[in-house]
Amino acid sequence: MSAERWMYEGYEMVVGLEVHVELATATKLFSGSPNRFGDEPNTNIDPVTLGLPGALPVLNRHAVELAMRIGLALGCTVQSCTFARKNYFYPDMPKAYQISQYDRPLNADGVLELPDGSSVGIERAHLEEDTGKSSHLGGSGRIHGSEGSLIDFNRAGVPLVEIVSRPDITSPDQARLYASELRAILVAVGASDARMEEGSMRVDANVSIRLPGDPLGTRCEIKNVNSVRSLGRAIDYEARRQVAMIEAGESVRQETRHWDEGDGRTHTLRTKEDADDYRYFPEPDLVLVAPDAAWIDAVRAALPPLPSVRRRILADATGQEPDAESVMTVVERGQDGYVLAVAEVGGSAERALVHVKEAFAEAGNSPALPAASLAALTRMETEGRLTATQAKTVLAEMVEAGAGDPEAIAASHGFEAMDSSELESMVAAAIAADPEAWAKFCAGEGKAMGALVGHVMKASRGQADGKAVTAMLNARRDS
Ligand code: MN
Repeated sequence: MSAERWMYEGYEMVVGLEVHVELATATKLFSGSPNRFGDEPNTNIDPVTLGLPGALPVLNRHAVELAMRIGLALGCTVQSCTFARKNYFYPDMPKAYQISQYDRPLNADGVLELPDGSSVGIERAHLEEDTGKSSHLGGSGRIHGSEGSLIDFNRAGVPLVEIVSRPDITSPDQARLYASELRAILVAVGASDARMEEGSMRVDANVSIRLPGDPLGTRCEIKNVNSVRSLGRAIDYEARRQVAMIEAGESVRQETRHWDEGDGRTHTLRTKEDADDYRYFPEPDLVLVAPDAAWIDAVRAALPPLPSVRRRILADATGQEPDAESVMTVVERGQDGYVLAVAEVGGSAERALVHVKEAFAEAGNSPALPAASLAALTRMETEGRLTATQAKTVLAEMVEAGAGDPEAIAASHGFEAMDSSELESMVAAAIAADPEAWAKFCAGEGKAMGALVGHVMKASRGQADGKAVTAMLNARRDS
């Protein structure tokens, strides 16, 4: 999986991503109200959340620690930092400012290495509070054309980390890889559940285009991208739109645009604010946060292995490449430990990887089926007593029940043990029965093999392992 460089009409794209991620704390960033998704609206609130006069923020230490985990996992420098007020009016932000970080973010200057070998610089990863959530009734769900609006303040004050990449991304594929890899890291370090569909991870893309060698073009920011797949589509659409404008002699206006999944286009939301428009100033109600070396070292030492390392370990154990689809998928689901456990109790890691990828999509990161049961199944396969297809059938029953003895299930299906000498004699019989096919096969006509395999399958009533038969035919021809 390598990201191809994007080019259109001679232009290249320049993309930087801003990812907001909700931290998995028990309480909010500056108050004791629960940080919980899906509760009855306006129940997780308090004077700080609502921005009532005189209410003062108290910083959540665990939020700082989770933000440090993110920074350290991205190779950032963790530094002493300050909070700032970012002023703007929005109905779901009761104070009319957001407490964020500005000139002194907690984490600065990191890098995210992608599975395809490319890397993307991280400018900063700072702490800030989330806003409330507006719902617009009637119409499309957007404010335009709606009949009324409701505001839920449960989300206001939820701790966020905003991760800002450098404009190093050059294709929609690379943007997708970045978002999935970042998501995997956030989940691995326990900082967030990072669910794009629930909004606990939100990706905005700054997109511009230029002729190679030219200075950076004017960028547009795309919001409302709800999946990794839409991210790629939105960036591709937006870059083509900008190329068409330039080619028509127009110029690109700096603005915030909304991605519409339905029509597959971006639409103007508002002309873009610059940092000046937010009138940032230091938050007078919070002091400097200065994590000492001992705290930073303790957080670094407690970081679990990151997805890139786990992919390499799984790849080595299973004879795959670290960016093979099965390796990527299983690590992303957090099931790599399970595959390794199967190998540890005497199973085949290679077969376990295939089964876990195909049959454990819904199993979560600690599948109910004991590792020993899957290990026993993979041994039956490697010993040639079950074909891949038969193993799949047996496994489906084991997964369904969450347990089971593969020997007994195989027997109940009549998947009889067929040892290799039995198979050898069936192969010999097939050759004897169809000498013409055998002659053609020996003369290099690969197609003739099908007839011979067919004989064996028929004789074994479908019990023979097609791969083993093929290997035997090849061996006989070559001997
Ligand atoms: Mn932000």
